[in-house]
Amino acid sequence: MNAPELWTAAAAAAPLLSYFLGRYNRWGGLAAGAALFAAASFMLAGQISAGAPYAALALWAAAALAHSALLNGSAGTPPDRSRLEGALARAAALERQLSTIKTEATVNAAGEKKSLAVYSAVKLLSETVEPQAASKQLGKYLADYFETDEAALYMAGGTAGGMELFAQAQRGSALPTYSELLRQAGGFPGEPLAAAGLTLAPVCAGGAALGLLAVRGGSQGPESAGRFAAEIAFALKRVLLFRQVEWLSQTDGLTGLWRRGALDEKVKEEIRRAAAFRTTMGFMIADIDHFKHLNDTYGHQFGDAVLRRVAELLKAGVYETDFVGRYGGEEFGIVLPRAESAGVLRKAEAIRSRIEAETFSQGLERVRLTVSIGIAHFPRDGRTPEDIVARADAALYAAKEGGRNRVIDAGNL
Ligand code: GH3
Ligand code: MG
Ligand code: MG
Repeated sequence: MNAPELWTAAAAAAPLLSYFLGRYNRWGGLAAGAALFAAASFMLAGQISAGAPYAALALWAAAALAHSALLNGSAGTPPDRSRLEGALARAAALERQLSTIKTEATVNAAGEKKSLAVYSAVKLLSETVEPQAASKQLGKYLADYFETDEAALYMAGGTAGGMELFAQAQRGSALPTYSELLRQAGGFPGEPLAAAGLTLAPVCAGGAALGLLAVRGGSQGPESAGRFAAEIAFALKRVLLFRQVEWLSQTDGLTGLWRRGALDEKVKEEIRRAAAFRTTMGFMIADIDHFKHLNDTYGHQFGDAVLRRVAELLKAGVYETDFVGRYGGEEFGIVLPRAESAGVLRKAEAIRSRIEAETFSQGLERVRLTVSIGIAHFPRDGRTPEDIVARADAALYAAKEGGRNRVIDAGNL
């Protein structure tokens, strides 16, 4: 290779040198390439006239050199660590912010769910015209609020002045009975408390205890249960008043016994039950003998007092689970679920003789009276409520016909 060829090759290699060196250091690469190119061009200068190919080659080399310089760009500069670290720090901060937002969102969602549960419960209790149906929905709100299946609301108005289960988060959950709850808590709690693994909160309005919230487990403590109780108190009071009105309309004002409509319902219900479970049911109609005469002789007020006392004696004569109603006037109906016919007859006879033995008194008046009783039995005397009532009525008629102060069983007619 002669000298011009060597310098030509060097000029050609200049861009390559510039490029590769440039990868390590931009300005170093550029300077080395430019220097090589300048030297080669200088050495070739003498022979530039030797031909255009050299000039073209020189131009190409210059273009390649410029390209190389551009191509390497910032590759030669060491990475800016401080900027990178800044970016990483910002990313970490953002991530922290995001996770805080996520936690807050979860907390907010839980809080919102709780608020919604309380609001829904209050709305439900404020609007319902059917407390029995509302109790199921209320159970769902209890579950949402307390985040457990073991939450229940007991409500006043139960038998014997106690409270009765009104709503529960899950049907058949293993919460103790009301009386057991009171025993574990050492009486009706005056304020929300935790006792024996339970959270209890009284529901009170105007100083009266309307209900009791009981929760086992769950995420809410006594304070939170107390808030729920306070929120629903007035709406629960409305339900209680509503129930009272409903109750009053079902019971007879004079005797406190079921009214005819309610008693008819009991007959229907018990016959449905007896048919479904293949059990039996007894039904009695008792009618005071010559009551018109008593009214005419002693006055209506005395008559009313007698009706009240007879009602007491009838109730005392049957089980608490039996239903005693006033059919109207001085006529009473008694539903005896699951009773066998001999037992019903025995009971009717006991009632008859008890009333016969009673001295009804008011002021100076002393009066004795008697009743006649007709009995029918399901399924022996009929399949429908109408049949059973009609058969008992027929038996009563027979008792009156037979001389009064007696019990007649439709089975013997
Ligand atoms: P029987 O032995 O045939 O049953 O004769 P009775 O007089 O009892 O029968 P009747 O049905 O003819 O009379 C019922 C009377 O009951 C008529 C009415 O004076 C009286 N009575 C109905 N409701 C009431 C009430 O709410 N209070 C009072 N004091 N009397 C009533
Ligand atoms: Mg009568
Ligand atoms: Mg009558």
